[in-house]
Amino acid sequence: MPRHFDPALINDPFDDPGLYVDLVFEKRALLFDLGDLGRLSPRKMLRISDVFVTHLHMDHFAGFDQLLRRLLGREMTLGVYGPPGVIDAVEHKLKAYSWNLIGGYEGNLRFRVTEMDESGRAASASFSGRTQFARRDEEKRQSSEGLLLKESGIQVRATTLDHGLPVLAFALEERAHINIWRNKLGALGLAVGPWLRKFKEATLRGADDADLIKVAWADAEDEKPDALPFGMLKKEIMKISSGRKIAYVVDCAYTECNIERIVKLAEGADTLFIEGGFLERDSAAASKRRHLTARQAGTIARRAGVKRLVTFHYSPRCKGEGEELAREAQDAFLRAGSEKVDRLFR
Ligand SMILES: [Zn+2]
Repeated sequence: MPRHFDPALINDPFDDPGLYVDLVFEKRALLFDLGDLGRLSPRKMLRISDVFVTHLHMDHFAGFDQLLRRLLGREMTLGVYGPPGVIDAVEHKLKAYSWNLIGGYEGNLRFRVTEMDESGRAASASFSGRTQFARRDEEKRQSSEGLLLKESGIQVRATTLDHGLPVLAFALEERAHINIWRNKLGALGLAVGPWLRKFKEATLRGADDADLIKVAWADAEDEKPDALPFGMLKKEIMKISSGRKIAYVVDCAYTECNIERIVKLAEGADTLFIEGGFLERDSAAASKRRHLTARQAGTIARRAGVKRLVTFHYSPRCKGEGEELAREAQDAFLRAGSEKVDRLFR
């Protein structure tokens, strides 16, 4: 079964941006952007294991203190990921307080902060409560294709966008899962056993349909072949469920380079969370501030072929026009979809 995640924006679209992603079966959560966290319950905050910061404008980072306050005294390591400068930013935040009494706290809170530049070079540093959050730098490494976090069930990739300064956009993906139909296995007279692992490995390396896979039979007494063709097994007993994918994109100018990078990152996502805080009539103001309009967000979502579009991070100048903003984005997003439907019925 694919692991389950449950994404939800934490604030009203006119307030600070932030996406909380509960990893339901792991009793933990990921957080995208660190703006005002006042609406997250203590229980939800305590589940956060990793935080992804797009950039260091205040509305995306000022919530660091709220999180620090809540996690202090816990025995845990918080992963923080962001653009160049985020290690210094965390260091400065931690240096703003006195830690002479921290030795008496029960749990040791640690931070492991990673920043990635445009070329994919990643630098990390850690800060431990035991040493009053003294900074310890680690060796730099090259991340492959913007991969920031890779676990057995999920991964997070980032790409750099231009907003007058580098901003990271993120994609969270579940890895595809190979499932075996147990009942069909039984119906064929095959037994569960280590051979299934080899069969799954053959699937992952893209084996040829004619390749023979050694199998185990439930009833070993009958005369049965000790191997079956990979293609036949694949058809009969295997089900691949592709993992879900979401993308989180804020604060970027509508430039060809940004668009291309977002489309590549978000391609085929189940949900794209993207800023779209200006009405088209305010496109000059949006472009001056290096932000996307609602229509531009919808156009990008369409180009990326995502299944669902959610816009947020609305500009205060559009206060009271939230529905209009959402509609302009959805109109641009769905336009191609309706053309496709028209073609089908022609
Ligand atoms: Zn910004």
